[in-house]
Amino acid sequence: MGRNHEGAIPIDIETRAVHMPDIDWPKNSASPPLFQTAAYAYHSVETVDRILSGDETGFTYTRSGNPTTEALEKLLASLEGAARAVVTASGSGAMLAGILALLPRPGALLVAREIYGGTVGLARRILEPMGYTFHWIDTHQLDELPQLFRQFGGLLIAETISNPLGRVCPLDAIIPLAHQAQVKVLVDNTFATPYHAAPLDWGADLVVHSLTKFIGGHSDLILGAVLGSGPVVDSAREIVDVMGLTPDPFASWLAFRGARTLPLRMERASQNALSLAQWLTTRPEVDAVHYPGLSEHEDHQHAARLLKRGYGAVLSMRLRGGLPAVEAMASRLQHVQFVPSLGDVATTISHPVVASHRELSREEKEAVRIDDGVVRVSVGIEQIADVTADFEQALKGGEKGA
Ligand SMILES: *Cc1c(COP(=O)(O)O)cnc(C)c1O
Repeated sequence: MGRNHEGAIPIDIETRAVHMPDIDWPKNSASPPLFQTAAYAYHSVETVDRILSGDETGFTYTRSGNPTTEALEKLLASLEGAARAVVTASGSGAMLAGILALLPRPGALLVAREIYGGTVGLARRILEPMGYTFHWIDTHQLDELPQLFRQFGGLLIAETISNPLGRVCPLDAIIPLAHQAQVKVLVDNTFATPYHAAPLDWGADLVVHSLTKFIGGHSDLILGAVLGSGPVVDSAREIVDVMGLTPDPFASWLAFRGARTLPLRMERASQNALSLAQWLTTRPEVDAVHYPGLSEHEDHQHAARLLKRGYGAVLSMRLRGGLPAVEAMASRLQHVQFVPSLGDVATTISHPVVASHRELSREEKEAVRIDDGVVRVSVGIEQIADVTADFEQALKGGEKGA
């Protein structure tokens, strides 16, 4: 917002160096500009006052809003079919903002058995000491749910597709049961992405994403998002602003770029995942393959009813040889890397016991059948024959090594 006056006072090099050039920023760029700025300059106190009091639209300070982030929010809301979205500095930040928006005062957190370990950590290490109570819920025991919902009230936290066993619970039946007992429902849709599932259509009060995974899609950013109806997302936005869970504009810019190819990447990756899952079921080194697209998966019926256009890009397998076989396979894979994350364009493996599910005790891991032999695969968009060939040579070598 530099101003060039006719009779401008002369300024020295130190002053010119920090002076903003006077530019009419174009509004018609074909892709969203990156507003990598912390704040905005004004020549009127009244204008700032009007913007801060909501009487005029505009931006003042990036913690409360940024045009690049707003572009991403609009794109995400459109993909998810949500009225509004707010982007956060991480998926965990989105989870926190979503929980506090739906349950602002301490109450019961009803947590689905297979939930992401980081969510367990947030609930137990941060929210429990604040007075929230933590309760594991088996979302596959539909008969028991009405009684539990009436007993505890509060907020149900579930995922569309669980990590790493690909469990899919009947959220279309569970959400109405929860609402009958005034229990709110927050759904983490990170694994399904809006390409495969739209939990708001089943009545979820909020959807949360880790954009770090498939929506960003290139392992180059950490971001999250909260999506839903206007009033709840507005509360989440206030929490994000006041608590400083705000994203960096550059990360928003990267995520916008990634999200534009989400449908293409998910289409390819989910086809690849189904092929790899089917192939793994024929391998002697593997004693279980978990992928909701396999007809023998325990939740295949729910997955076929609830998921669209495929079953996602994550599968897991249990190696017969346990941890030594996992180590041997990881060391022999040539193209597939061991990365404690997921959702990249490249296929990666991870080890839930060591990485994503660290927060759980051994008994809790056993309750959801996660042991040392379980390997999670996040399938990418490669030529699937190359990925299969890499696993084939690594598994064979693993047998000898184990
Ligand atoms: C990674 C992940 C999160 C947390 O997101 P961050 O961006 O790492 O903070 C939450 N839920 C699921 C299902 C995840 O995979």
